[in-house]
Amino acid sequence: ALDLEQLRASIRTVPDFPKPGIQFRDITTLLSEPAALRTSVSLLADMARDQGATVIAGMEARGFIFGAAVAIHAGLGFVPIRKPGKLPVETIGVDYALEYGTDRLELDPSALAPGARVALVDDLIATGGTALAAAELVKLTGAHVAGALFVVDLPDLGGSTRLRDADIPVHSLVSFD
Ligand code: 5GP
Repeated sequence: ALDLEQLRASIRTVPDFPKPGIQFRDITTLLSEPAALRTSVSLLADMARDQGATVIAGMEARGFIFGAAVAIHAGLGFVPIRKPGKLPVETIGVDYALEYGTDRLELDPSALAPGARVALVDDLIATGGTALAAAELVKLTGAHVAGALFVVDLPDLGGSTRLRDADIPVHSLVSFD
């Protein structure tokens, strides 16, 4: 297994993506390194167990990669939280604000058993808007949000603080200022 410093080093920083002035933390390089991928999945699965999760939910699209792997590793099922218009059944949805405009996440509520304890998984938390919308969706079904798990936290953008203020336990493996 890698230590967290090695895991952090496996993440590539791409300047000026998707816009000038943004330092994009790109997990493509982590995914292609077997030890980095295995270590991140294994540590996130430990955290999901610690949070008492009974199911993993991942946010489209990078949350699908880690979330499904974490679910398998932890012996749990996986529920996709999707971009609008993708699910073939009746969904519930939550709209949330972006820097410019809005976005929406959708969920098939029948995928979550009543009383489910859900660990949300995504690659990265920035402002927390995505994760808070996902948590709201889960709560709309009557399920419980056990916690939120990320490979990367950008603490200066305040998302992890916003989640904790909403009483959602948050764990991340590495952070970038
Ligand atoms: P938030 O909603 O917390 O502001 O942004 C987090 C969402 O945007 C996540 O779904 C994440 O995949 C994506 N995201 C925002 N910034 C970055 C970044 O620098 N790197 C990566 N990999 N994803 C990002």
